[in-house]
Parts: sequence; structure tokens; C-alpha cells
Amino acid sequence: SKVPPIILNNGVEMPQLGFGVWQVPDDEAERAVATALEAGYRSIDTAAIYGNEEGTGRAIAASGIPREEVFVTTKLWNSDQGYDATLRGFDTSLARLGLEYLDLFLIHWPLPSRGRYVDTYKAFEKLHSDGRVRAIGVSNFLPEHLERLIAETSVIPAVNQIELHPHMQQHAAREFHAEQGIATEAWSPLGQGKGLLEVPAIVAIAQKHNRTPAQVVLRWHVQLGNIVIPKSVTPARIRENIEVFDFGLDEEDLAAISALNEDRRLGPNPATFDMG
Ligand code: NAD
Repeated sequence: SKVPPIILNNGVEMPQLGFGVWQVPDDEAERAVATALEAGYRSIDTAAIYGNEEGTGRAIAASGIPREEVFVTTKLWNSDQGYDATLRGFDTSLARLGLEYLDLFLIHWPLPSRGRYVDTYKAFEKLHSDGRVRAIGVSNFLPEHLERLIAETSVIPAVNQIELHPHMQQHAAREFHAEQGIATEAWSPLGQGKGLLEVPAIVAIAQKHNRTPAQVVLRWHVQLGNIVIPKSVTPARIRENIEVFDFGLDEEDLAAISALNEDRRLGPNPATFDMG
């Protein structure tokens, strides 16, 4: 494969770069995932709330790629938190994907005000010990939520998928994850394409390496050790975004991108987000 793996804390290998399908309707997701698999992606990131687990599953099945060569992530939606609801939510997602097992299951949001993420995670531990999911983790958890989870459950999350891009670099979270052996996965790694790819410093580095701004930003993540899941429905961009393992940024490039941090979120604050 053209994408190297990250070894998760339970020994499972996860491709460092995968394909995200947020905001892609089911039929379009099927086409986009098919294009991504043809381009060499072997990791797909969906979620129950995205409404495209079926199209994602159809594309994987139709690809003819052996099941064990594709790493599939989905996420439990907020309304399914709680022990029993989680087990049902998992079954529903797996059936929609048309899979026998899942590679990575994430709690989509912590919803701290509802106080159910520990019970939810205990159901994740059961799914893991039953062999129905190879790795379990969380998304949008702040260090304080991870600390509580680690204190009250037995399996350290393999992954925390958080908003992370050059305008929101998440230094404290990344450091905490590293101390705990949790892999950091970046959502909206390209800043949703909203302005980040036109920032002069990034455009200049792209010109210097004869690459695109998107490739430069993805390469910055890779060199930091982040797992990335860029999204596109445009075939040329889907192919472009995976071609980031045959060049390198130098110290000066990395420093110039790191100087762009503004601690500015595009998405909601996990401490207060309480939807669904
Ligand atoms: P992203 O940062 O991947 O940006 C995607 C957008 O950038 C595209 O829609 C397009 O407009 C642009 N783009 C992509 N490739 C480009 C290229 N080569 N050149 C120019 N423009 C390009 O944004 P995202 O979709 O928000 O995040 C990626 C994935 O992360 C999602 O699809 C989803 O799987 C995941 N995600 C998870 C959460 C969560 O709460 N866990 C939240 C948001 C996203």
C-alpha cells in the first residue's frame, strides 16, 4: 500500500491516511468511496449520523478488495449513548455497512452534560471483547473526558478523533494523547477547504515543492504523526490527497505552518455540544 500504518495501542494497524465522507449523500458516497479505493485508500471514515453507511458498504463490497485489507471506521451517534442503546446502534451500523466486523468504533461526541459516555464505552468494551470490533475509541473528547474514561473503564481508547488543522493545532490534546498512548486522528484536516488552502505561507511551500496546498497540509499532519481523513467528492482531488508519501517538508516548512495556529475551531466546542 502507498499509505504507511500507525500501530494502535492494541497492536492493530490503521492506515495513517484515510477517506472521510461527512456531508456526502449515500449514492454519492458510494461513488466517492469507489474512487478512493481505486486510488489506493484502504481506510474509510463514516458515522451513523452521516446517512451513508449503506453506500460506503456497497462500494467496499463492489471493490473486490479483501475485507481484511480495508479499515472501516464508524461512529455511534449521540442519541444512541447508554449501554443497551449502544449495542443496538452498533448492530444497526454494522448491518447498514453490510460487514461482519468493524475495524474502529468511536463515540462521536462526549456530551458531558448527559453523563452517559462511561456506560456507552463499557458497551464498546463488550463489543471489543466479543471480537465484533478490532479497536475502540472516541471522538471530540477533551483530556478531562479521557481522564474520567481511563479511570472508570479498562481499555484505553485507541484513537481520539478531533478537529485538527493548521488553524487549530490542539497542542495540549496531542501531548496528552501521546502520554496515554492514544493515537490522534485529525478531522477536517484541510480546514474544510475554507480559506486554509489559500493562506500565502501554505501556497508558497506548495510552490517550493511543486505540490498543491492540500498536499502540503496533509504532509504536515503526516510528519506530526497524526492520522488524517481528508474528504472530497472530486476524483482528481481524491487522487491528489493520497499522494503525500513521496515528498517531505523541511524544518522551515514545518515551522511556517506551525506558526499559523490560531486555536480557532470550525466545529462545535465538545464541552458544550449537546445535539441529537
Ligand atoms: P476536510 O478538511 O477534509 O475538507 C474537505 C473539503 O476541502 C472538501 O469538501 C473540499 O471543499 C476541500 N478539498 C478537499 N480536497 C481538496 C484539494 N485537494 N484541493 C482543494 N480543496 C480540497 O473536511 P471534513 O470533511 O470536515 O473532514 C474530513 C473528515 O473528517 C470528514 O469527512 C469526516 O469523515 C471527519 N469528520 C469528523 C467529525 C467528528 O465530529 N468526528 C467532524 C467533521 C469531520
